[in-house]
Formats: sequence, C-alpha cells, structure tokens
Amino acid sequence: MRYTEDKAHSAELLRLALTPMGRQAAALNPLTYTVWYEHLAGINGGLSAALERLEQSVAPIDDAAILRLYKEHVAGPDEEALVRIGGQMQRLMHSVEQSAARTDEQAGSYGDHLSRLTDALADPDNEQLTPRLAEAIERTARMQHSVQDLKAQFAASQNEIARLRGELERARDEALVDPLTGVLNRKGLDRRIQALLGEPPRPGRAHCVAMFDIDHFKQVNDVHGHLVGDRVIQAVAAILRGSITDPMQSAARYGGEEFALLLPNTTPQQATEVAEAVRTRTKAMRLRDRRTQDVVLTVTISGGVAALAPDDDASSLMARADAALYRSKAAGRDRVMRA
Ligand code: GH3
Ligand code: MG
Ligand code: MG
Repeated sequence: MRYTEDKAHSAELLRLALTPMGRQAAALNPLTYTVWYEHLAGINGGLSAALERLEQSVAPIDDAAILRLYKEHVAGPDEEALVRIGGQMQRLMHSVEQSAARTDEQAGSYGDHLSRLTDALADPDNEQLTPRLAEAIERTARMQHSVQDLKAQFAASQNEIARLRGELERARDEALVDPLTGVLNRKGLDRRIQALLGEPPRPGRAHCVAMFDIDHFKQVNDVHGHLVGDRVIQAVAAILRGSITDPMQSAARYGGEEFALLLPNTTPQQATEVAEAVRTRTKAMRLRDRRTQDVVLTVTISGGVAALAPDDDASSLMARADAALYRSKAAGRDRVMRA
C-alpha cells in the first residue's frame, strides 16, 4: 500500500492541504488532492521538489500543472504509454478482422457462383454457359485481388505489431528508469533484486547492496535552489554509474537523494570498498558555475552495505542496508558502514 498514514495523521494532512489547494488555480479534484497529500506527507521527494519549484516560480498551479505533476511523479511514465499502445493494438486487430471478414464474404459468393457454373457446365447447350464463364473469370480476378489485399494487410500488420512490441518494451524499460539521471529507479532496482533471489551466489560470495543518501541535501536546495539540487543528483548518479565494472551490477536512484548499488557475487568487503570509492569521489566532486567555472558547492554522502541472506526478500535486504546507512548518518555522516 502506498499510504501508511493513520487516520489522525491523514486528517491533519487533509487540513494542511486545504490552504495551498485554496490558493491555487487548479480545480479541487482527487488528482489535485493526491498531489498535495503526497507532498505534505513527505513520501514523494521528487514531487515535493517539483512542486516547491513551481510554487517559487510565477507560473500558476493550474489544471495543466497539476496533471503534469501527477503524471510525472505519481502515476509514473508507463501507464499512459501502455494505454496508448493497447488502443493501437486494438485498432490494428479490428482492421485485420474486417479485411478477413470481407475476403470471407467474397469467397462465399464466389463459391455460390462456381456451383452455378458447374450446373451450367453439366449441360453444354445451356445458353448461360458463356456469360457464367466470363463472370467466373472476372470473379476469380476479384478474389485474387482480395486475397492479395489480405496478404498485404497481414504483412503490414506484422510490421506494425513488431513496431508496437518495440514501443511496449521501451515503455516498460522507461518505467524502470529514473528520467532525471538515467539510472534505474526503485522499481527497476527491486526487479533486479527479485531476479537475484532465486540465484544463489557463487561459493564464498554474496549478493550485496550499498545504499547511499546525500548529506544535508535539504540545505543544498535551500541555499542554491532546486535546479542546482537536481544537478547534484545527476552528478552523484554519474559517479554511481561510473563505479560499475560488470554488467550484472546496477546503479539506481532509490528515491529523492537516495541511491543504491546492487553488486551480485561479491564479498561484503569488496562491496564496502566500492561504496567507499563512491563516497570519496562524491566528496572530491566540485560543482562549478556553468558560466564562470567558479566552484559553487561540494557535497558528501553516507552509505550502508548489506549482504543478501537466504531468507531475505528485496525489502528486508534494503531495510538492513538502510539501517547501516542510518548508523553512518548518526555517526557524523560522510562514511560507509556495514550491516
Ligand atoms: P541528511 O543528511 O540527514 O540526509 O539530511 P538531508 O537534508 O539530506 O535529508 P532530508 O531527507 O531532510 O532532505 C532531503 C531533501 O531532498 C528534501 C527534498 O526536497 C529533496 N529532494 C528530493 N528529491 C529531489 C529532487 O528530485 N530534486 C531536488 N532538487 N531535491 C530533491
Ligand atoms: Mg534522504
Ligand atoms: Mg539526505
């Protein structure tokens, strides 16, 4: 379940939502409420960042803006594409069905005509013979056309189906990728972990995960604005991507400023070294002003490493990595701890 707030907390969120919803231009429909609810509950960092950006800009928060926020941060990018592809597929099947029905109808009347022709052939003196033969020739040609049309339509449909299948696969992949950074999103990472659950690690190895959270990131946003915040998120994602040395490993943006590395068939020691490398590279990163090249800011990151245990699922594994990460935060940040 997406929402775990109890009645008292959710009632408080409802009360809090009324003021900003009253101020905005958009209609007060369930979409609007979902956007404000998730923002105020603090459960959707990307949405909050986008909403705060919007509140600071002069653009009105109208129906279009709410719909955009909802689509990009609540519904996910996949639903719309899936609905569209489903509709195209249905239209395609319908037109093939119609062509097949037309050909079938023609074949029926062609068959009737042939049986009349057979009757006429039985009596060579029948005066109907010549016109029936002529008509048979013409109908044969028409039937050939119709079958050719059907064949062409099938070939075109096959191409169209291949194209739609490609689009569907892309939509599915996109639903697993974070649009801001290009690394996997949480759903994508969960899928990868899920796939690993059935694959025992090689002897002496473990499937490890390292979780990261940028330190004091709220301050980055507060001091430099959300756009700079987004650039930091992109830069950290690039560091994670750069730390991958094997196609079985994955980098992911787990939430707002939280990241994860999935490192199958490694040792907790090696996983901790990789996480340490991410930490030192993040610390060494200098975000520069694009125009003046002056250093604008530096950030640090904290990490937690955990190894998959036999009775783990994706969420218990991530919870252990998160607990180790929390200890890194509590111990003063800018460090990596092992579960
Ligand atoms: P800590 O060291 O304890 O992690 O402190 P913190 O400030 O990083 O932690 P907190 O969770 O309070 O703040 C996270 C902030 O990240 C709040 C939220 O606005 C911001 N954020 C989440 N997603 C995005 C995003 O996509 N872009 C930007 N710019 N900010 C985001
Ligand atoms: Mg955080
Ligand atoms: Mg943080």
